[in-house]
Amino acid sequence: MTKIRKLHPWRRTVEIGQGVILLGLPFLKIKGESALRFDVPSLQLHLFGLTLWMEEFFIVLIALIFLALLIILITLLFGRIWCGWLCPQTVIADFTSFVDKAKGKGLPAKLIAWSATFLVSIIVSADLIWYFVSPYEFIARLIEGGLGNIIRGFWISLTVIVFLNFVLLRQRFCATVCPYAKLQGSLFDSKTLTVAFDPRRRDECIECMACVKTCPVGIDIRKGLNIACIHCAECVDRCATVMSPKGKNSLIGYFFGLPGEDGRIVRQNVIMIGTVTAAFLVFLIYLLVSRMPIDMTVLPNYVFQPRMSAGGSVINSYIISVRNRGREDAGLKVSANGIPGDIKIVPDKVLRIGAGEIKKIPVYVSVNNPEEDKITRDINIIIETVDGDKYMLTRKAHFSIPEGK
Ligand code: SF4
Ligand code: SF4
Repeated sequence: MTKIRKLHPWRRTVEIGQGVILLGLPFLKIKGESALRFDVPSLQLHLFGLTLWMEEFFIVLIALIFLALLIILITLLFGRIWCGWLCPQTVIADFTSFVDKAKGKGLPAKLIAWSATFLVSIIVSADLIWYFVSPYEFIARLIEGGLGNIIRGFWISLTVIVFLNFVLLRQRFCATVCPYAKLQGSLFDSKTLTVAFDPRRRDECIECMACVKTCPVGIDIRKGLNIACIHCAECVDRCATVMSPKGKNSLIGYFFGLPGEDGRIVRQNVIMIGTVTAAFLVFLIYLLVSRMPIDMTVLPNYVFQPRMSAGGSVINSYIISVRNRGREDAGLKVSANGIPGDIKIVPDKVLRIGAGEIKKIPVYVSVNNPEEDKITRDINIIIETVDGDKYMLTRKAHFSIPEGK
């Protein structure tokens, strides 16, 4: 008798962990906002303490490219590890396996299984919506009866789709609908990790068919790799149970490449894709670290033409548009430099900009005795925070000296 090291408990632990994370994440708050949520009314993405605005979505684009590359790299290395161990489709199908068990039974067993699946579908659909509408707001509005037609409509539609998927399609979804499953064939190479039957031990197979009966997608892995296989490893465990009393290991297992071949993890395509993925990760980290929660644009103030003051100073005016993309109010001070002469700014007091607020402020820059060799010069308009985290932003503008000064 060989000691069986089953993969099923590990897989179930991973599935439970994934379920807890996906259900719990919308409830987790970081700096007063959802840890991960795209807020539809404000078009803001809350991302683990950061709030990204619509105009910053190039960061999301870089993050998506990085994720796509990471998925390609993981698929190239570990095949359908996502499908078998982490994909919500597989996880929920596993947790509603009572639907499969009820198939051969009477109507009452089926009705109980369908009702339980319907309950799961309601929760899963609400969880999907919580990534767009805060679950705290969702639940409060639900209790008050004021969920609104749009959210209620989405919830009902999603519930019906999820329910039909887990009652009718189940794991067949992976082989028929899922685009990732179809892509994987082109991402695999001859060294990718796969679940395979060891052909060198074909004579040891007792044709018990336990591996076929346990397979959720109903394939016979002994016939070779099959696109429908989700690499759940249930057949590995079943064959191990069959082989154990004979003192043998499972005839099916995880192999890098074909069983008996040299299964190298490090290979040319892995190095190439890994390098590009790492480069995008570094770029993404740089974008996130260098991101400023304050933004400013400077435009000429067309209702105030450049002019001379009675005291001999040249005055130009600008409209500065300041956006506070942070989650806290900010105090800002405006200053200017880059032009010879004595520079004064009005207003010179601290400007308060609320969290998420955009303010357009007229600013007057007066320069005493600017050099007269040019009609226009570049001037730097600067804003800096005076409280909280320190940020400074500089924008160039034209400073005009009126003719005949
Ligand atoms: S062949 Fe094995 S690993 Fe593939 S889906 Fe069936 S049981 Fe899972
Ligand atoms: S469970 Fe193992 S012994 Fe039984 S048919 Fe499958 S591969 Fe052969």
